Amino acid sequence: MPLKLYNTLTRKKEVFEPLKKGHVGIYSCGPTVYWYQHIGNMRTYVSNDILKRVFLNNGFKVKHVINVTDVGHLTSDSDIGEDKIEKAARKEKKTAKQVSNYYFKVFKEDLKKLNIIEPDVWPRATEHIKEQIDLIKNLEKKGYTYKTSGGIYFDTSKLKDYGKLVRLNVKELKAGKRIDIGEKKNKTDFALWKFSSSQEGKRQQEWKSPWGVGFPGWHIECSAMSSKYLGKQFDIHTGGQEHIAVHHTNEIAQSETAFGKKPWVKYWIHFAWLLFKGEKISKSKGGLYTLFQLEEKGFSPLAFRYLCLTTHYKKPLNFSLEILEMAQKSYNRLKNIISGLKKGEKKNKKNIEGAKKQFLKIINDDFNSSKALSFLWDILRDNRLNDSEKYELALDFDKVFGLKLDEEEKIKVPSKIKKLIEERGRVRKKKDWKKADELRKKINKEGYSVDDIKGGVKVKEI
Ligand code: AMP
Ligand code: ZN
Repeated sequence: MPLKLYNTLTRKKEVFEPLKKGHVGIYSCGPTVYWYQHIGNMRTYVSNDILKRVFLNNGFKVKHVINVTDVGHLTSDSDIGEDKIEKAARKEKKTAKQVSNYYFKVFKEDLKKLNIIEPDVWPRATEHIKEQIDLIKNLEKKGYTYKTSGGIYFDTSKLKDYGKLVRLNVKELKAGKRIDIGEKKNKTDFALWKFSSSQEGKRQQEWKSPWGVGFPGWHIECSAMSSKYLGKQFDIHTGGQEHIAVHHTNEIAQSETAFGKKPWVKYWIHFAWLLFKGEKISKSKGGLYTLFQLEEKGFSPLAFRYLCLTTHYKKPLNFSLEILEMAQKSYNRLKNIISGLKKGEKKNKKNIEGAKKQFLKIINDDFNSSKALSFLWDILRDNRLNDSEKYELALDFDKVFGLKLDEEEKIKVPSKIKKLIEERGRVRKKKDWKKADELRKKINKEGYSVDDIKGGVKVKEI
């Protein structure tokens, strides 16, 4: 079954052709670990996870790399401002390492809660300084760099196709509004290495280089680390949609120059944002919710995952607690239906194979999780299928959804319901069946069911 994906580079939906048969290399821009990752970030990692699971489901061997930015990401994407990690360390009165280690740890815990498969490699920028210096040396030797008092810059005017990912019109840009570019030769030139002396105050993280003491620019880390783990040319690069214009454009410029491969990356995939009141959720605006805060409000992380799956990754998703509440209810209902399916019935192979094929066709069409989720609901409602068949299909689809559909959800029962259940237990002991029945009806009315099982009761939302 062909796997189609939308490639930002060509602006077309294409059939995926791997560089090496049966294998796929994926590089995803990862977190800048100076604060908690918010649920907007999490949407991007859920999208990455679906993408990866679809490849696995199609029998590919996947090598997935997510980088950890623990140096060099400045408060502005255009090489000005402070290093985000240094700023956080100063504010929290901690070392840069303590800051990045802590937020990376929390981030990994969040991914686990969201049932996101860990990447094969988690390279950290600070642990790949040599690779980044080597790459800058390569660019220097080829004549693409120049020095300013602030650092070493990439001369974008030397590339005919600079900005092809974003379809940038460099001529128009030159003719446009004059802005102060300081010592830079062109507006689009970007820093490969920044000198510590160009920053205010003493930095915690700095290294010696052939050009002076300093630290790498943000874009160079992704080129250096992706090539180290995936080769000088690889299949897929992913990231949030805001990376198209600057970060990924600059990654392409320096990598195609250094490695001499065109295209450096075959397929570029960009994920749409999670919005709140129509605006991108972002850390600089306070970040809104973290996963932990949603948990505190009684939501399960997998309900958030369910919500992410209801919208195609290329479409913006508007977040609100009301929408999450709806997703939580649908998710609970889905799990209840699946746990109630009888498993002993004889299965018809043809029914199963037909539905699996249909599912693959849907999800292989540019990772259409929302359509695939509707298909699962259709299957569960389909009278032509028996319970055993439905169960097998649901679990098969869940290899892609990652919603843990076969695991019992520990639901939080409100204290009011708990009291009713306890009272029902007491009257049942006294064999007052009439009263017990009345209490059961009361519990049902509040939206919960109660079943007597060996040694206790089983409570579910209905
Ligand atoms: P950062 O930690 O800011 O470098 O971001 C990590 C990843 O989260 C990047 O791939 C961003 O594109 C992505 N991201 C940031 N904000 C959002 C958002 N509101 N919705 C979806 N993805 C986001
Ligand atoms: Zn990156």
